[in-house]
Amino acid sequence: MCPLRSNSSMPWIPNGSSRLFERRSFRNLSSVPIQTSPPCLSASCRPTSRGHIRLRSPDPEAHPAITANAYSTNADIEEMLAAGKILRQIMAQPAIAPLVKEELRPGPDVVTDEAMIDDIRSRSGTVYHPSCTCRMGPDPASSVVDRGLKVHGVGALRVIDTSAFPNITSGNTNAPAMLMGWMGAEAVLRDAR
Ligand SMILES: Cc1cc2nc3c(=O)[nH]c(=O)nc-3n(C[C@H](O)[C@H](O)[C@H](O)COP(=O)(O)OP(=O)(O)OC[C@H]3O[C@@H](n4cnc5c(N)ncnc54)[C@H](O)[C@@H]3O)c2cc1C
Repeated sequence: MCPLRSNSSMPWIPNGSSRLFERRSFRNLSSVPIQTSPPCLSASCRPTSRGHIRLRSPDPEAHPAITANAYSTNADIEEMLAAGKILRQIMAQPAIAPLVKEELRPGPDVVTDEAMIDDIRSRSGTVYHPSCTCRMGPDPASSVVDRGLKVHGVGALRVIDTSAFPNITSGNTNAPAMLMGWMGAEAVLRDAR
């Protein structure tokens, strides 16, 4: 949300950026001195917006159409707006404010809700956790695989990876992906016995 220029050397390093969905402007951090510019970032760990992934053609080699659909709900926008305000409150606290020389982005002039939302929409990115595109669930209308990770209506086909998560995890996805693999492998072995 708001990279800052600090008054002293600080050990934080700006995050890299991912671009699953297009930004209206690219966040160029290369002009920001790394040692002196701690980023304060907010992340929506439980987004309510839902994207989709669709086949473009019967050709299995053809890339699918991926629509992240980020910020398509007011709840997600309101959450990030509140987070941006809280970040500024935190950085204004007496314990940390003396260390901060200036807010670089979006900058002190960006104060109205409208301007902050515009900034959120233009500079946000995703972290590396796309998941749930073949989500697990009992209803074939709203899910792809059943609780045994079998594709609804296709007896001998399983999906065993993060795409089968019923919902995205709040934390990082690698450990749950390993658990999914472990439990899926056990289910395959169970069926084979
Ligand atoms: C840059 C980056 C950094 C990350 N950092 C972290 C982190 O710090 N902590 C964390 O917890 N998570 C992190 N993640 C997320 C984590 O790596 C993933 O959630 C996890 O690897 C997902 O596991 P998966 O098995 O679902 O998919 P993948 O690990 O993507 O595995 C899919 C496999 O399927 C193979 N494959 C694809 N298509 C085919 C095909 N047609 N035929 C055969 N094989 C195919 C691919 O080659 C790949 O080996 C990061 C992800 C990225 C991209």
